[in-house]
Amino acid sequence: MTSLRYKRVLLKVSGEALMGPGNYGLDANTVNAIAEDVSAVAKLGIQVGLVIGGGNIFRGVSGAAAGMDRAQADGMGMLATVINALAMQNALEKAGVPVRVQSAIPMASLCEPFIRRRAVRHMEKGRVVIFAAGTGNPFFTTDTAAALRAAEMGCDVLLKGTQVDGVYTADPRKDPLAERYEALTYHDMLARDLAVMDAAAISLARENKLPIIVFDIHEPGAFTAVMKGEGKFTTVH
Ligand code: UDP
Repeated sequence: MTSLRYKRVLLKVSGEALMGPGNYGLDANTVNAIAEDVSAVAKLGIQVGLVIGGGNIFRGVSGAAAGMDRAQADGMGMLATVINALAMQNALEKAGVPVRVQSAIPMASLCEPFIRRRAVRHMEKGRVVIFAAGTGNPFFTTDTAAALRAAEMGCDVLLKGTQVDGVYTADPRKDPLAERYEALTYHDMLARDLAVMDAAAISLARENKLPIIVFDIHEPGAFTAVMKGEGKFTTVH
């Protein structure tokens, strides 16, 4: 058996990545396609944790912009991530992978509460763990939740699956001259304000010497390729 580059990884997928061709909610084909890729990595023997955003359903900032209390709106955003987590659990189970959802906001009838040691045990047993409800606190994002869980769980790398295959000098969908960075430092990401992950998440990763890899979540097989050091991606370290 070839030795694996990574033992335990945390993948952050934004809620928007689950919308597929629609502009709201969940697209079953898209959720299933991502689940297939996650399942392929889990079947390589790599321990996988997942954090899924909620922006396809509700974002606290939008609620606040419409006049809601921000903390209240963020509570709704965190609940949105639980909906996505349950959808992904279902898709992963259909793909043949054992999965546990752990929520930062306890909701015992639907999923487990977040218990770090228990999550570690699940992963050691080859179960994918989906960390739902972000950090459990308003005024944070699921990017920060992903960096936090990756650090707590002792992950080797934090992966951010986005709509493009890495970090670019400009938005490649708008600027044909945009170039992809092979590697960046945390400082570059913060100083250039590259809108890939929020600053709190990058700072947390930097403090914990947790490398970040940005890749295209919609490219079939890209997650597996990245795990083998192949394909296109940007590394931040
Ligand atoms: N959220 C929160 N605390 C957290 C994580 C998320 O309050 O620790 C709320 C916040 O309202 C956010 C929403 O959940 O807008 C959805 O998360 P996010 O915007 O990070 O999702 P994504 O952009 O990745 O889909």
